[in-house]
Amino acid sequence: MLNMETTQIKTEKAPDRDEIRLCSCGNGARRRGNADCLVCHHVSVKASRLRRQADLKARFMVLEAAIDKLAGVSDPATRRAFEARCRNRFVVVWPDQSAGKKRFDALVIKFLEGDKLLVMTYDRGFQQVPLERVTQDPARVWNP
Ligand SMILES: [Zn+2]
Repeated sequence: MLNMETTQIKTEKAPDRDEIRLCSCGNGARRRGNADCLVCHHVSVKASRLRRQADLKARFMVLEAAIDKLAGVSDPATRRAFEARCRNRFVVVWPDQSAGKKRFDALVIKFLEGDKLLVMTYDRGFQQVPLERVTQDPARVWNP
């Protein structure tokens, strides 16, 4: 009885396994266990990555506008110097050589006169740091 069932399942599944199923693009075989081919899969993965990055950038621009409104007028020269150096306001602040301090992540809130920045850290609140001790946070960069 058990044996019969197994044989039945095998005979039912056998033709399916050999059948070549095409992706809806008509160019390639479907990936195993999926409805699309490898080319379509790569295209859709890339599209969703770009969508995610564009979405992130749009959200950050809203955040940046809100920060600027709350922080007030920034120094344009410092702002230009910062923008030449970093791609967005998520930065790493490096310690000066003398003190035994550690680097930390921060968000730039305001551009102050004389190449100084007001940054906000997640655990230490607000502080002023010189522009030259700041670099882009590589973990928080997007492409578009
Ligand atoms: Zn395809």
